[in-house]
Amino acid sequence: MQTNNTPQNIAIIGAGASALFVSIILAKKGFHVTLFEKNPKAGKKLLATGNGKCNITNKNLSLNYFFSSNPSFIKYSIENFGYKEFLTLCEEIGLNLVTNENGKTYPASLQASSVVDVLYNEALFLGAKFSFDSKVENIDFKEKAHIISGDKTYKFDKVILATGSIAMEKLGGCSSGYELAEKFGHNIIKPSPSLVQLTSNDKEIHTLSGVKSEANVTLLVDNKPQKTLFGDLLFTNYGVSGNTILDLSREANMAILNFQKVDIVVDIFPTLDKNKLLALLEKKKKILSGKDKNSLLLSLINGKLIPFIYKKAKIDSKKYFIDNLDKKDLQALTYTLKSIKIPIDGSKGFDSAEVVAGGVNVDEVDNKTMESKKQKGLYFCGEVLDVDGACGGYNLHWAWASAFSLASNMK
Ligand SMILES: Cc1cc2nc3c(=O)[nH]c(=O)nc-3n(C[C@H](O)[C@H](O)[C@H](O)COP(=O)(O)OP(=O)(O)OC[C@H]3O[C@@H](n4cnc5c(N)ncnc54)[C@H](O)[C@@H]3O)c2cc1C
Repeated sequence: MQTNNTPQNIAIIGAGASALFVSIILAKKGFHVTLFEKNPKAGKKLLATGNGKCNITNKNLSLNYFFSSNPSFIKYSIENFGYKEFLTLCEEIGLNLVTNENGKTYPASLQASSVVDVLYNEALFLGAKFSFDSKVENIDFKEKAHIISGDKTYKFDKVILATGSIAMEKLGGCSSGYELAEKFGHNIIKPSPSLVQLTSNDKEIHTLSGVKSEANVTLLVDNKPQKTLFGDLLFTNYGVSGNTILDLSREANMAILNFQKVDIVVDIFPTLDKNKLLALLEKKKKILSGKDKNSLLLSLINGKLIPFIYKKAKIDSKKYFIDNLDKKDLQALTYTLKSIKIPIDGSKGFDSAEVVAGGVNVDEVDNKTMESKKQKGLYFCGEVLDVDGACGGYNLHWAWASAFSLASNMK
């Protein structure tokens, strides 16, 4: 609760995930909150989350799923406001959730719109005021904070920048928060797209568009393996997509920004090691003697991949029958099936990225109160900060947890 009798007036810039959440906790504590949102409605990006179902958090929360140039900044918020604390708060505001076997948690309705409705209605119920179609262009701190939107100036005691990142402009993503923060001397860690599809200039990859596989995907930077993930991989007419790619995209894009060479290596047979796969091909070769060579891989892999694998394995195209394949050919096929190397030259960019790596330098922000160390009375929460998460509800959890730290420590 506030210590003096006159409630403090708090301006929140944005009416997205973290803004709605911080407004509810502050209003409960007796603060007067006003949200300025440039869009005509609250939570436009939130509506698009989790393919419209909103993967709101994850039961398997751990610091390993969050990233920043200074990871120690994240610790307090996530340890203080984890999965259980979030569930308790959701129950208090009537937001029912379901958690699947992977820990991914959604509203029970499986509708992102119900998350926006519950949060927005709760904020209104607690007295929060909303100013839509109101882009905040400037903030000035004199005795009080002056918020400048259009031709109007409003005075507040404190200001929270909950402006999100530049990911997906069509959903409200913009650089406005970074620019407002820079005016107070904040440094911006260069944003790069994350949780985004990767592009490849290998034209043969484009011909595989539509092929889906469950694979081990390894990210190579300057030919050195960085990380291997198992999961969905989708070949597209520009490169690669799927959960594995989205989760590798952060490191891939950062390496590309540093002018490093980036490749991915795909093992489309993760369940069999090289020896077992070779033995399987040798056995199948004997059984299918007399048939054409494509029948060797038919039913083992997606049919569209077969000519591609023969070409990549450099099998002589004149070898038509399975019996023409010698031991070396089978070894080359095995090697190719276990390690398709795809050069990566970029990503689909900020317009396709779910989140951004980078943002306001967290060394310049208090990790408990979320107050700027550069400007008293200025606060941050959500993705505008240099914090992002893996796929699976972690980015929204950062929005909730950072908002909770801010609001619970505000005096
Ligand atoms: C397609 C998609 C799917 C996603 N799915 C998931 C998911 O399932 N799970 C998950 O955890 N994360 C998901 N994310 C990420 C998640 O949506 C974001 O991390 C989260 O919304 C960030 O919350 P925020 O409050 O920081 O910013 P936002 O929710 O983006 O809100 C910021 C708001 O500020 C407003 N604004 C900005 N500047 C100004 C200004 N100057 N004046 C007034 N208003 C301003 C913007 O219009 C916006 O409404 C997804 C993202 C996308 C794009």
